[in-house]
Amino acid sequence: MTAGYEAVIGIECHVELRTRTKMFCGCVNEFGGEPNTKICPVCLGMPGALPVPNAAAIEHIITAGLAFGAEIPAFSKFDRKNYFYPDMPKDYQISQYDMPLTRGGAVRYWLEDGTLKECALTRIHLEEDTGKSTHAGSGDGRIAGSSYSLVDFNRAGVPLMECVSEPELHNAQEAIGYLESLRRTLLALGVSDVKMEEGSLRCDANVSIRPSGSSELGTKTEIKNMNSFRSVERAIESEIARQIEVVGGGGRVVQETRGWDEVNGVTHPMRSKEEAHDYRYFPDPDLVPLEIAHERVELLRTELPELPWQRFERYTAQYGLAPKQATQLLDNLSLATYYDRVVDASGNAQQSSNFVLGELSRLANETGVAVAESSVSPEHVAELIALVEGKRINSKIAKELLARMWSGAGSPAAIVEREGLAQTTDPAAIERFVDEVLAANEKVVADYKAGKTNVMGFLVGQVMKSSRGKADPAIVNELVRKKLT
Ligand SMILES: [Zn+2]
Repeated sequence: MTAGYEAVIGIECHVELRTRTKMFCGCVNEFGGEPNTKICPVCLGMPGALPVPNAAAIEHIITAGLAFGAEIPAFSKFDRKNYFYPDMPKDYQISQYDMPLTRGGAVRYWLEDGTLKECALTRIHLEEDTGKSTHAGSGDGRIAGSSYSLVDFNRAGVPLMECVSEPELHNAQEAIGYLESLRRTLLALGVSDVKMEEGSLRCDANVSIRPSGSSELGTKTEIKNMNSFRSVERAIESEIARQIEVVGGGGRVVQETRGWDEVNGVTHPMRSKEEAHDYRYFPDPDLVPLEIAHERVELLRTELPELPWQRFERYTAQYGLAPKQATQLLDNLSLATYYDRVVDASGNAQQSSNFVLGELSRLANETGVAVAESSVSPEHVAELIALVEGKRINSKIAKELLARMWSGAGSPAAIVEREGLAQTTDPAAIERFVDEVLAANEKVVADYKAGKTNVMGFLVGQVMKSSRGKADPAIVNELVRKKLT
């Protein structure tokens, strides 16, 4: 599809921050509710109302910047971005123009096959969210009452992070890898709940193409209105194909904003792209410039948790887990923490992952209780792993034991001891079971000797059954095979 061309993609994300109150007033920052109930003169932009910056929001941006290795300048300020829009009654948005809270840095992400990559960030800045318009009715709006718009200002003034990437992504898979990593990181930092379905994460993609091998940037379009990562992926793919067709047909790509049509799977022109000078930015005279204390920044740096990409690297490079297992674990923070405790106790990363993602996750799904909340302690899982690894029990017994531990049975070693469940590895003892089974199944043995070798599984199963599941399956297999030939 992209033969002869290379796509160049940059992503802009808007992320609503998780704070108790809004960016410049004391209204509660909370999704939803009756329209226009979480508002005050400040977030409505009434003349004379004065904004007061939210310190928690400023710290969230600095924390995110530090997590991505960005520079945190000592000074920053707020600017007014002027435009006319019904969801912003004061006709400007408080944003940041030439002195953002963070500059540079990079988002490290990985592809499905586990390849680690990174995409540089231009900046992360802080602004306020707008209200939300809902367009209703069926008419063309020129006749009164035939169609109308409703505006809800509950969202107006919610702290909003804008995170701008450099144009360093080259296909839809890289764009999704980047977005997933950004989402996971912000979630791990606790600065946002990053829910695309509630609009707390919204993203636009800038897409252009150029001949392969060229280092110049082509004319870009900006795609909006994508409401899931899946639509971001489809929209980018469709826009790259459209641009290649335009250029291939001798045409030129026009710089514009395009909307994504989810139903028809195409982008369509919305408006010509605004330039920064159209907004007539100027410093907000109501807000003093921000001086960022170095000591505070360093304190926030020490409070950073292990980041998702670091955990990914630990799980894959150090523990040898497959990229899919690693991702599955780190996408569920409480499960990943539980897993880490099992590894600490067992010293066996792969078996720990097998049990945590396998049987324990299955029991969690079945009972609706999270693994970390269950009555199975990480130490007891480690004990179980030791029993399996030491060939004291086989995997079938291990599975049965886990189910009982899930219902509160406690230490697996104690159950094995109490009920004599230890695996039989004594060949003489197993041989007695084998002989019994072969004697009781003369016809099957004859079938085997006549060439129906697939009855072997049945015979092994019978031996396991008569040993009450305790015989070592490897020894059973070996003995049955030997006796039949
Ligand atoms: Zn307010």
